[in-house]
Amino acid sequence: MAAKAFVKNCYCAVWKYSGAMALQERLARWVGRSPLSILLFHRVTDAIPPDGLTVTTRWFRSFCRLLRAKFHVVSLGEFVRIVRGTEKPLPRTVAITFDDCYRDNLDAAHVLAEYRLPACFFVPSQYVGTDHVFEWDQGLPRMPNLTWDEVRAIVRLGHEIGSHTVSHADLATLSVEQTRYELVESKKTIEEQIQRPVRWFAYPYGGRENIHLERLPLVFEAGYEACFSGYGGFVDPRLRYPIIPRQPMPQFRSLLNLEMHLTGCLDWVYSLKRRVGIIAVP
Ligand SMILES: [Zn+2]
Repeated sequence: MAAKAFVKNCYCAVWKYSGAMALQERLARWVGRSPLSILLFHRVTDAIPPDGLTVTTRWFRSFCRLLRAKFHVVSLGEFVRIVRGTEKPLPRTVAITFDDCYRDNLDAAHVLAEYRLPACFFVPSQYVGTDHVFEWDQGLPRMPNLTWDEVRAIVRLGHEIGSHTVSHADLATLSVEQTRYELVESKKTIEEQIQRPVRWFAYPYGGRENIHLERLPLVFEAGYEACFSGYGGFVDPRLRYPIIPRQPMPQFRSLLNLEMHLTGCLDWVYSLKRRVGIIAVP
């Protein structure tokens, strides 16, 4: 494993310091294919080991430092404006999001603010201020949820709050009426609590199988301006997305590897891996 990481790092270092990465980025920009990303986090904590939903506090701080120094981080509102507009986005444009209202998100919000990085936190309105444990967290040490006071503190730090339904429901399993309730009530509750408009909606679970495209109009009828998946890769501004993709944020051991991933310079490696059947692709 260590040998594999070493080889990967060497490859990244050669690619970057030989100038190949910069060239690849310039070419992508020239053909109008600079990758934009919306990153999806869940937990930033040292209470449990890193996993598919968890990054460590140390890693997260390094990540913030990298993004401040080398990326163009915008609010979700600005990101949507860019994706739906006609202007050419700046290279390395990134937006940051969090799902599921874990309490450690408040600490992450402070770190983000320290580095002047805006983010949007999607909360399931029913679980804020409760000790609800998500089914996938059964057996893990208890991780508290945000309270409404803490959600308001996140807003005061300059971040946005979005809706993640009322009950973190898999909308693909609900009736039209239930779906409407989850969309409308969560928006109403969050807006009452934070006294700001809630413009964005993120699908719980967020996979293709959790989203009924034919029910998409319900999202906009409820008053949301855009909605986001939990799958997908880079955002291509030339495509008009009904649902804007987000990238679940894997914890790269090396920041160089992360930088290359976010610049799209590893895409050809991923497609090669897919082609030869190695599916372990971030
Ligand atoms: Zn979620």
